[in-house]
Amino acid sequence: MISRVRAVGSAIRHRWRRSLQTRIITTTVLLSATVTLLIGATILQQVKTGLLDSATRSALGQLSSGVQRAQTQFEAQPRASNRAFERTAASIDAELSPRQGEGDFEVSMVSAKPGLRSYGTGGGSLSAIPLALQRTVADRQREAWTYTTFVEPDGSTSPGLVVGAPVQASNVRYQLYYLFPLNREVATLHLVERTMLFAGAALVLLIAGIAAVVTRQVVRPVRQAAFTAERLASGRLKERMTIRGEDDLATLAASFNRMADTVQQQISQLRELSRLQRRFVSDVSHELRTPITTIRMAADLLHDSRADLPPELARSSELLQAQLDRFELLLADLLEISRYDAGAAVLEPEPVDLTGLVSRVISLAAPLAATRASTVIADLPDEPVIVDADARRIDRVLRNLVDNAIEYAEGGPVEVRLRGGPGGVAITVRDHGVGLRPGEASLVFGRFWRADPARARTTGGTGLGLSIALEDARLHNGWLQAWGEPGKGSVFRLTLPWRVGDAITASPLPLNPDEESVSA
Ligand code: ADP
Repeated sequence: MISRVRAVGSAIRHRWRRSLQTRIITTTVLLSATVTLLIGATILQQVKTGLLDSATRSALGQLSSGVQRAQTQFEAQPRASNRAFERTAASIDAELSPRQGEGDFEVSMVSAKPGLRSYGTGGGSLSAIPLALQRTVADRQREAWTYTTFVEPDGSTSPGLVVGAPVQASNVRYQLYYLFPLNREVATLHLVERTMLFAGAALVLLIAGIAAVVTRQVVRPVRQAAFTAERLASGRLKERMTIRGEDDLATLAASFNRMADTVQQQISQLRELSRLQRRFVSDVSHELRTPITTIRMAADLLHDSRADLPPELARSSELLQAQLDRFELLLADLLEISRYDAGAAVLEPEPVDLTGLVSRVISLAAPLAATRASTVIADLPDEPVIVDADARRIDRVLRNLVDNAIEYAEGGPVEVRLRGGPGGVAITVRDHGVGLRPGEASLVFGRFWRADPARARTTGGTGLGLSIALEDARLHNGWLQAWGEPGKGSVFRLTLPWRVGDAITASPLPLNPDEESVSA
């Protein structure tokens, strides 16, 4: 139950956040309901005051004429005995009481002098006169009125108005009271209340409907713009908005389309530029190969006979040889990258035993590790792990990862692990050296990107190693990911599917070494 309430709550919150139309309609309804309520309450109050005022005024009018008649009767009375007064009071009460069809008010003659009887139409009328009102009439010696609640013999209550005034004749005092039920006024008030409630609800609904229609007109094109923008962002550059009419929304659509035109144009230009650039790199690399081969032959000749050369020339020939090595490496990497860019890189898959391949890479890296005072520790399964892969490329990726790890391990150990799982096969290369700063885990795969370009490199890296490795991994439908923290070292993980073309569902080894569990 609670979870259902929560689900509904979160659905409402979601709608409130996501839908402009919902927000506008809700706000409009709330505001108009508040205003309608305030206006309704004010009108009701005024109607109530008006109804009661007119009832009071007519009651007071009736009272004053009643008092006149009573006084005339008392003054016309020949004998002034208590009995006679009582008789007169009774006859006045009877005379003033309503006849058939004159209304349903009641009249009471209340004695203001001890020993005299009071008279009232109906049994309950005397007790229905509030004592406080009687006291006010007696104290002030003039008319007074109050609203009260009449209790019927059956116990039900009804609202009423009581007006009273003193009747003075000789030395005798009687008070005359009229008791008016206010049922009709209350009924009128209820009718007005119901009508206004209905009218108010209808008004709020109407406003909500109008708000819905109006916002729909505005929100629809905005939604269409968002939809088109999303399609544009996903690469469908030909997507445009439809322009209807000449209003503000049509202007929005036109501006949007102009923006899309410009973006499309710029992207096409950039694509063309990038194509030219790639072509340039590829052409230059190819063109450089022939002169380099000649230079290499000459340099080899010089190098071979360096023993016969003067020391400074011998040193120069060694430098020439070293720089030529680097140059050839860079050229090879550039050619490889341009092959990828041209889409000419083809996978030559075959069953490969990764256990053997990793062991070979580790043993080949041993001399480099020795110069760096580092050791490479292998954690491999005992049995062969056979996957369908391009052995040359996987070998290149692993060599790159292991060489990098040794290079940045700062003398610490490098651990290489291999595991196969249901979702794929993973190899991690971990070092405990400089590590990677936040954000660098994706930057490392960028072309020519280096954390520290000034760092003196001895392994002769070109800054292209990891970007080629990433392309190699992608060609296999595999993943190549990095993790690192400054001072804690780095982990590079290559995950491959068992067969080329399969998708990896989960990597059998965690990327983050702090995570015990196997992560995807
Ligand atoms: P290169 O090694 O030739 O510089 P890479 O593409 O192999 O080029 O690597 C790019 C950059 O990534 C390196 O210059 C280095 O800053 C960073 N990097 C690579 N491997 C590691 C590692 N194991 N630890 C820390 N940084 C690394």
